[in-house]
Amino acid sequence: MIYRRTEAEMPANPIEIHESKLEGVEYQFLTAPVRVNKDANGKVKSMTLIKMGLGEPDASGRRRPVPIEGSEYDMEFDYILAAIGQKTDINFLDDVNKHAKNGELKANKWGDIDANKITLQTGIPSVFAAGDGVSGPATIIEAVAQAKLASHSCHLYLTGQDVAAPKKEFLSKKDNFHQLSKDEFVNRYQHQIREEMPVLEADVRKSFNEVELGYTHEQAHHEVGRCLE
Ligand SMILES: Cc1cc2nc3c(=O)[nH]c(=O)nc-3n(C[C@H](O)[C@H](O)[C@H](O)COP(=O)(O)OP(=O)(O)OC[C@H]3O[C@@H](n4cnc5c(N)ncnc54)[C@H](O)[C@@H]3O)c2cc1C
Repeated sequence: MIYRRTEAEMPANPIEIHESKLEGVEYQFLTAPVRVNKDANGKVKSMTLIKMGLGEPDASGRRRPVPIEGSEYDMEFDYILAAIGQKTDINFLDDVNKHAKNGELKANKWGDIDANKITLQTGIPSVFAAGDGVSGPATIIEAVAQAKLASHSCHLYLTGQDVAAPKKEFLSKKDNFHQLSKDEFVNRYQHQIREEMPVLEADVRKSFNEVELGYTHEQAHHEVGRCLE
């Protein structure tokens, strides 16, 4: 893994970095790719890399990586996977708009599909959008939640009703009634450490088997015993 900043600036989940190291991923921090080099058959052979230093913080608050002149070197690779961010492919907008009888499908200022945040209705009233295409790179659960909302709006539209957000469900969570303060639980309960999840040994993980093995009966019993109520 080639990364131009240090581990401290990596926008990845620390557990994923830790697990990847256990599974044999080698990191080259403060290193950036310059060029991909091909062999005589046009297949990938190596990459020219350059060492980086850290300068002043940039707009993201992380220190800006600066190339160190003259530090270039080559490293051989069989495959190269680029992981340099994602953006929504909105090339289809013109095609949709060409066939739209009413309204226009637009991109928002981030280059994602423009949709009403509450109803997910787009500029074409009969078109609803959800997921990463609307929010930019997010998570599965957020895409599913948006899809549920969009299908609700779609139903309202198709049945001739006003397209509006569904009523918020009543949740009887304690913190809906008042903010919890530390005094309510500190010193009243014994501090108990979370049960460590048993996992597959790193050297047998190169398969599609689940890495997290689940708690034993005793561990599950102890873990639920940590609940305050
Ligand atoms: C490497 C990686 C790891 C991730 N890990 C996690 C994770 O651990 N947990 C998590 O919650 N989320 C994770 N995500 C994010 C998650 O995958 C997305 O948030 C989720 O898939 C979004 O769902 P979606 O239905 O909006 O879009 P997508 O799943 O991207 O589906 C969009 C579909 O539309 C198709 N499409 C695009 N353009 C057109 C077109 N013009 N015509 C027809 N079809 C088209 C695409 O081929 C694709 O199948 C990860 C994403 C990546 C890239």
